Amino acid sequence: MLEAGEMPPWKVEGYLIEVHGLAPPEQFGLAAEARRQWIAKRTGIEFRHIAIPETPYKVRYVCEHDRTTFELDAADTDKRCTLCRGALKPADSSAERYAPLVNNYVGGTEDYYSFAGSIRLTGDCDGEFQILLQYGTGLGPIGVCRGCHMINRFGGARVKVGQRASASRCVGLIFGKEEERERALKVIGGAMGSLEDRLRKILGKWDGQPATVEFFRADDPHSFFLFVEFTADFVNYRGHGAISQAVGAVKELVDAELRKHSIEVEVSAIAQGYDGDLKPSPRNKRGRYAAAEVHVPLASFGKYFECSAERLLSFVRLDASGVEKMGWFHHTGMGGEIIAGMYKATKVNPHSPLVSSLERIYAGVEGDELVYGVELPNVEAGTLSCSEGLIPPPGREALRIMGIDTAREFAACLAAQVLAGEFNLSLEIARERLYRPRQD
Ligand SMILES: [Zn+2]
Repeated sequence: MLEAGEMPPWKVEGYLIEVHGLAPPEQFGLAAEARRQWIAKRTGIEFRHIAIPETPYKVRYVCEHDRTTFELDAADTDKRCTLCRGALKPADSSAERYAPLVNNYVGGTEDYYSFAGSIRLTGDCDGEFQILLQYGTGLGPIGVCRGCHMINRFGGARVKVGQRASASRCVGLIFGKEEERERALKVIGGAMGSLEDRLRKILGKWDGQPATVEFFRADDPHSFFLFVEFTADFVNYRGHGAISQAVGAVKELVDAELRKHSIEVEVSAIAQGYDGDLKPSPRNKRGRYAAAEVHVPLASFGKYFECSAERLLSFVRLDASGVEKMGWFHHTGMGGEIIAGMYKATKVNPHSPLVSSLERIYAGVEGDELVYGVELPNVEAGTLSCSEGLIPPPGREALRIMGIDTAREFAACLAAQVLAGEFNLSLEIARERLYRPRQD
């Protein structure tokens, strides 16, 4: 039924109970195995390192002393309350005792993998990608799945993705006098040829090349600052270690030049405050640009989505205005969770994808179509397992199953998933299907 598209993947557990009469918790392992085999058939790649434990479900407990509830992985041997360290009791009702580790669970023991749909990409990157996320508990993976389905229905995600990614490092200098700073600027500018030779030599080991050098001045009441920011471009490496080594070497040359010209420098350092390292900022030059959008004919929008195009556009405007009021520079929503979920699933570096979590949502009308899109300006990731970061076997397996080889495909696929999650979420909110009180 999964193969024939007759059943959404998140309904397998319920089907096994209702139609085949399985008793909880029997359905969880079988449902996960069914989804794994279905994905393996589609991709030609077996799950090996992403394993299923013997008891792939969670169990609900209560602490009568603290009136708290616990949901523990069935393999967890610590069955005591975190607060009082007293023994936990299984939940009263056996029907509520068991639950899936995560929605659409397909494997993983320390972190749990959800299948979150497959999406077709067109434009700068072509093909179909399977999505595995370590999203955590909640309906998120199902939302991404539904978003993928809707986007595929309208021709797939149209993606734009940069050929190269950037990495930057900054040399920061402090001077006691403004004249010294201006002299230093001239000296560094004059030595730029040899500085770039040094950069090129070190970056070459990682297939990188120097891109831009920029000078910025700043002052405080006591000192005069000079930032010299070096940016380099990379194809498949993240470039973090490469640019660090290269600009470290350049700094030594800069220091030597300033000494040679007897320029007084109070401090010379790698100025991490200005190089964008793990700091999301609109002026950040790290990572690779990626964007994805879906086009839906206005004529079929209302009928297919049970929501008018005007209403969806109004909601996006309302939400964007809210983000602005909060003082955030870009619109972020569900994307912040999807992006982290993809980095966790693939285990690529950086492990803290803060820079890559910048996101902007846009929507409007072009001709007779509604266009809904997301932009990720700074996707920072390398897909190679190398000196700049080992990728553990389950991460490499997840990349293979997803269909991702290059860092460019990683960025394109990430943008498409964020599009799927955000588009589904915007629609659900615009249609008032979310955030309703439960009818108990
Ligand atoms: Zn307790």
